[in-house]
Amino acid sequence: MLRTYNYQDLNTEDLQQLVQRNVDPANEIRTIVEDIISNVREHGDNALLDYARKFDKVQLEKLYLDKAELAELAQALQPEQKEALKTAYQNIYKFHQSQLSNEGKIETMPGVTCWREARPIEKVGLYIPGGTAVLPSTFLMLGIPARIAGCKEIVVCSPPQKSGKVNAFIAYVAELLDIDRIYFAGGAQAIAAMAYGTESISKVDKIFGPGNQFVTKAKTIIQSTTTTAIDMPAGPSEVLVIADETANPIFVAADLLAQAEHGIDSQAVLATTSEQMAEAVIAELNKQLPVLPRAEIAEQAIKNSYAVVVSSLNQAMQFSNLYAPEHLILASENWEQITGDIINAGSVFLGNLTPESVGDYASGTNHTLPTSAYARAYSGVSVDSFVKKITFQHISPQGITNIGPTVEILAELEGLHAHKNAVTVRLAK
Ligand code: NAD
Repeated sequence: MLRTYNYQDLNTEDLQQLVQRNVDPANEIRTIVEDIISNVREHGDNALLDYARKFDKVQLEKLYLDKAELAELAQALQPEQKEALKTAYQNIYKFHQSQLSNEGKIETMPGVTCWREARPIEKVGLYIPGGTAVLPSTFLMLGIPARIAGCKEIVVCSPPQKSGKVNAFIAYVAELLDIDRIYFAGGAQAIAAMAYGTESISKVDKIFGPGNQFVTKAKTIIQSTTTTAIDMPAGPSEVLVIADETANPIFVAADLLAQAEHGIDSQAVLATTSEQMAEAVIAELNKQLPVLPRAEIAEQAIKNSYAVVVSSLNQAMQFSNLYAPEHLILASENWEQITGDIINAGSVFLGNLTPESVGDYASGTNHTLPTSAYARAYSGVSVDSFVKKITFQHISPQGITNIGPTVEILAELEGLHAHKNAVTVRLAK
């Protein structure tokens, strides 16, 4: 069921093909998404209502739930469910709060002082996926850093459920985060609404959140066609597990399946130093998969996945850096030997007792991460994603005397005389 390759047999071209994902060669997704974006621009709220009917199979009476309605929905939760969400909230809050840092002022020359200060992005849009599974955890992962950063307006969009509401977990998280409204909009149409604004939904400065291929494509399109920025292209989820002979095949199979159940386009890759381990993991997959409630989805995803047998942990790491996984699990007692070699990865889980699920929900790190090899250049969401760093400088009388002549020479060299003059008139004083 899990295709297996021998690293030795793969040439550079094979490897490139193996690590490629989410290709849309005929631009099919792009065409659909462009059409949705222009429809939302033209018809605003009405387009959102139409798409809710078409894709989410629900006839909405209004496009949002307000605070009172959310609080009522949240009452359906059991005390232990609320407690679990609160524990996750506290851990995520604690970890993200530590990211607020003050860099301090630097005197580059006597009298020339430079520094940076963070300011929150004023209006942010959070996309909470809700197609095949509702993800209150994503709401925590985006809402907590937005609150810590101090963003003034937080717009939240999530696909409506068949009931025409959001689920109680999402409603309770809205309460924890003190969110005023949740808009019923899913897919590319939600991204278009937050990028262009509609009668009900405000245009925002930056859009955050993972989603399926439609969501991700819409984010990449609006990033280049509007003034709204995006966190990163965070598409269908993926994991790469590096396992040596010290790994536990039961745990490894469970981790691969935890990824595979996300969606049929998710990918779960195993790189192992041991052929026996590959066989044992496949045997475990055959045992664990059929009994999952989302077996049908996981089975499809496993078909798109594979194992690679490598000769050493170093070779596994070489492959991993080429793949640039969203999640990397080092299922080995020897993980300390190779962490220094990690170059490209979104989030890393070390040792046999650290499943990705803990980071997905509650350990504290963020689960909104770059997929599809974007981990080569992007980081996951953090408080930094919700602020801009503004640079400041101040020049004293001593400072202008020190730095002035250097700037005059450089401006002269570039032929920019007005630049030079802005210094000369001050030096003359
Ligand atoms: P989703 O909310 O992303 O998408 C649901 C919406 O997709 C629907 O409301 C609908 O509007 C739209 N849609 C569905 N079929 C369509 C079609 N044929 N044409 C146009 N639009 C259509 O929810 P999902 O589908 O469950 O996907 C969630 C995704 O998020 C998964 O792929 C999961 O792997 C990913 N994810 C990624 C991360 C990350 O950090 N990268 C984290 C969590 C989840």
